[in-house]
Amino acid sequence: MINFKETSMPLPNKDNREKFKNQKLRFVCEACGQKMIMTPAEGYKAGWDYPPYMYPFSVISPRTCNKCGIEKTVWWEICMKHKTFEELTDSQKETIERIYREPESIIVKDKYK
Ligand SMILES: [Zn+2]
Repeated sequence: MINFKETSMPLPNKDNREKFKNQKLRFVCEACGQKMIMTPAEGYKAGWDYPPYMYPFSVISPRTCNKCGIEKTVWWEICMKHKTFEELTDSQKETIERIYREPESIIVKDKYK
């Protein structure tokens, strides 16, 4: 028997927790566009679905704030609606490019160090 849930749902990720514990990251909700700068722990506490606590970096999975659902994400469009890259909107394509370049694409450089 094949459990499709395991192949279609991204698995929780714990490998990067320690390495990025105190790293400020740019959290971008792909559904409502809200942006926040937080550490992974702060984002997790604030209720965001975001790597590296919820998912691995650079793997397509939902990137949402505490108010938005996964049905507005690129992950949903691809995994649930089976859309191709060409069928996505420009902002959804941008989201994919940002995800593929994680964590570099969301790391906030500290100017004062
Ligand atoms: Zn949102």
